[in-house]
Amino acid sequence: MPSATGVRDSLMTARRGAGNEEDTVADDVIVFSKPYRSANESVLLQEVLDSGHIHGDGRFTASAATRLQELVGGGDVLLTTSCTHALDMASLLAEIGPGDEVILPSFTFPSAATAIALRGARIVFVDIDPMTGNTTADLIEPLITPQTRAISIVHYAGVGADIERVALLARDRGLLLIEDNAHGLGGEVNGRRLGSFGHFSTNSFHDTKNIHSGEGGALVINAEPYRERAEIIREKGTNRSKFLRGQVDKYTWVDIGSSFLPSELNAAVLESQLREFDQIQAKRFAVWNAYAAGLATWAEAAGAMLMDIPEGHAHTAHMFYLLMPDHDGQTALLAHLRARGVTGTFHYGALHMSPAGMRYGHAPRPCDAARSFSERLVRLPLWPDMSDEQIDRVLDAVTSFSLSTASAR
Ligand SMILES: *Cc1c(COP(=O)(O)O)cnc(C)c1O
Repeated sequence: MPSATGVRDSLMTARRGAGNEEDTVADDVIVFSKPYRSANESVLLQEVLDSGHIHGDGRFTASAATRLQELVGGGDVLLTTSCTHALDMASLLAEIGPGDEVILPSFTFPSAATAIALRGARIVFVDIDPMTGNTTADLIEPLITPQTRAISIVHYAGVGADIERVALLARDRGLLLIEDNAHGLGGEVNGRRLGSFGHFSTNSFHDTKNIHSGEGGALVINAEPYRERAEIIREKGTNRSKFLRGQVDKYTWVDIGSSFLPSELNAAVLESQLREFDQIQAKRFAVWNAYAAGLATWAEAAGAMLMDIPEGHAHTAHMFYLLMPDHDGQTALLAHLRARGVTGTFHYGALHMSPAGMRYGHAPRPCDAARSFSERLVRLPLWPDMSDEQIDRVLDAVTSFSLSTASAR
């Protein structure tokens, strides 16, 4: 059964490799993901430690936020402790509450769902386009009711969703739009950056993401008048940010909130990675392009589908996945890769069928594409410093697989 923690599970599987009889090349397993090491990370961390300002909102928080603003093409950027927390902040700012409905793709990360359920609102699951894994305006529109307050979407694999039309739909129907941009930093649709369409967008800097700070995230606010309240919610419900800017002479409790700001240590690592954004992306694209070129012929023969990048979209090389013809094909390919020391993995289980999804939400229309996508998806290892030899090993492992030999075994 696919699980939402696929990434972490597969990393653990890779680490456990040495004790696993099935792994014939256990010492040489190609892991699914490997956190990038930036050149200046130790220097910047030392600077923070020496500065005496280790808590949040110091100079590296400010410089990282400015760099992120450029990558998203505007908006106000607030660093957070995670994307999950940025989604929680978006729900608080959107004043989502009991009696409200929020439309959410069934195929997404659980954090986007829990951000809705935590506010006591009802999740209305929407299906996805079977080619891209993303939802569309046409799928969302019939689910809008007088109770609908917001639409929350994801740009799966860093390939933009039908975001131009979804943004128009949200505007026409007076709904708030939340973009979970955890995969999409630097991606574009028709020249406009992902993360700039919604009232709010969120990023993740978990160490499996393109840019990381161990754990971390950001909330991007693209619409007035949320900035001031966002600062307060992020600072435990106090107006401390205003106080630090000298705009009030003491700070006090003014609203609900939590502690959503990361320390300067995390911000320093994030800053060091953002300085190398272009190199990181170039390295990821080299792997992605090698997979796309090396697997096209095999995919056609195997009846597998490679990622579909729609016209006008610039993706982020966040992941490389393929879709097998059926669930048995997924299981068989993953086993085949594992036996060759290559850590492939599945991804999210369809949320409308998950225990919490059934408790906190419902799917008014079938979400069969979400279920099928989840049951057929295989992701390949992709990290910036993969060697040509490792890329070739992955390609050999995939192209040596055929469904007929798999079922004959
Ligand atoms: C990783 C991820 C999250 C959660 O990010 P954290 O920073 O770990 O909280 C949310 N949504 C998507 C789409 C993700 O990939």
